[in-house]
Amino acid sequence: MNKTKIIATVGPATTEKKVLMDIIENGVDVIRINMSHATHSYCKKIIEQINEINKELKLHVPIMLDLAGPEVRVQKIEHGEVELLPDSKIKIYADGRIGNNESISVNKEELIQYAKFNSLLKLDDGKITLQVLNKTEEYLECMILTGGVLKSGKSVNVPGVDLHLPFLSEKDKSDVLFAHKNHVDYVALSFVRDGEDILEVTDLLIDQKDDHLSVISKIECESAIEEIDEIIRLSDGVMVARGDLGVEIPLERVPGVTKMVINKCHSAGKISIIATDLMSSMEYSIEPTRAEVSDVANAVLDGVDAIVLTGETTIGLYPVETVNMMEKIIESTEVDINYYDLLDKAMRTEKQDITGALAYSVVECADRLKARAIVIPTMTGYTAKKISRFRPSCPIIAISPNEEVLKELSMYFGIYTYPMKEIKNFDKMIDNARKVVLSKINLNPFDKFIVTGGYPLGQSQHTNFMKIEEL
Ligand code: PGA
Ligand code: MN
Repeated sequence: MNKTKIIATVGPATTEKKVLMDIIENGVDVIRINMSHATHSYCKKIIEQINEINKELKLHVPIMLDLAGPEVRVQKIEHGEVELLPDSKIKIYADGRIGNNESISVNKEELIQYAKFNSLLKLDDGKITLQVLNKTEEYLECMILTGGVLKSGKSVNVPGVDLHLPFLSEKDKSDVLFAHKNHVDYVALSFVRDGEDILEVTDLLIDQKDDHLSVISKIECESAIEEIDEIIRLSDGVMVARGDLGVEIPLERVPGVTKMVINKCHSAGKISIIATDLMSSMEYSIEPTRAEVSDVANAVLDGVDAIVLTGETTIGLYPVETVNMMEKIIESTEVDINYYDLLDKAMRTEKQDITGALAYSVVECADRLKARAIVIPTMTGYTAKKISRFRPSCPIIAISPNEEVLKELSMYFGIYTYPMKEIKNFDKMIDNARKVVLSKINLNPFDKFIVTGGYPLGQSQHTNFMKIEEL
């Protein structure tokens, strides 16, 4: 039973219910929708299908809406694409014109206002580079330094230049409200620059009295790195969005920044997610490269909660095969995770309270006894998250009557979910935990599992009991 979760972004390759079912059965744990491309009616279709699949497969696959955020994109281009030749010039407007090899339009006028002479514009994740030669109130005149084929909708980055874009556009706000109304579980915030940006979203959620939607901040620009402690503090988790990050900062800094962010998340007990290019050659190829296999394995060894597939599952030719391969790499790598190190680190940074002390003991005990599972009856998910934080080497099975809690928990390292009515009697609760373990795991005589939680359920302020069961 794999512990590192797979988040798959959906797109044309994975819109059909049958394919969604297929990728979920092959190991996808969370479905991500990129709001830079998706409409609300598309989201509704995906959400309905995932709800059906959850019912049919008795799963709790959560949905993550990824906001477009303050990003600049190329607008429509004649016939969909244009070839930009090096050493020629092009004008950039923000007036909605249809682009060609003389001029194109972007979606944000701030680019024209705040890009400076000599600023470098990185198009399509940095594949094309332009330099500003001249600017007027209406356009930037640029020299094409590195050419290439530019398609409609591609990204524009201006590393190191503050474009003074408001964090949430009207569309982003309506996407957050849509997420709230449609019981989405996670919202990912693109291009977070500091804590203030996150508070804009949490204020919106407080206005809606939404206490379910969790907030994942994407780390993809220099200022997010500078403000990382505050960003982690105000978020439920962070995603290292290596696509844009590798354009906004020198590419060679990406691995170091990634490890720094994962470490800080472990110390703070927050969700850590790595995104982009983990297996991108599988968009067109049935096998990943050796380097990609190592990249996935590396994230697993670092003990992240989840890794993200993007192009591989949105437009790739082999979405199911990619998920399958990722699952195999995770399975074969998780045996080599240094669980003791992760446990020790969590203990050093955990609050010295009753729940922290007991959660540590449960995981230490489970590892020492080679327990096959830790079972947690939970109303709020609190104990399950705490146990996940200590990274036990066996699976965690969270049992709850609350389907929304189970969906939220499905993102966390090692947590499997099981729906069940609230049980008030302690012995009956332990008995039920035993039934759940037996239904999920093939146990042998003398195998052990641990039941833990707060008792009475939903009323206790702490995780306060641990019961070791033997078959
Ligand atoms: P995006 O985020 O796909 O929304 O751009 C991921 C990344 O930048 O890596
Ligand atoms: Mn991005």
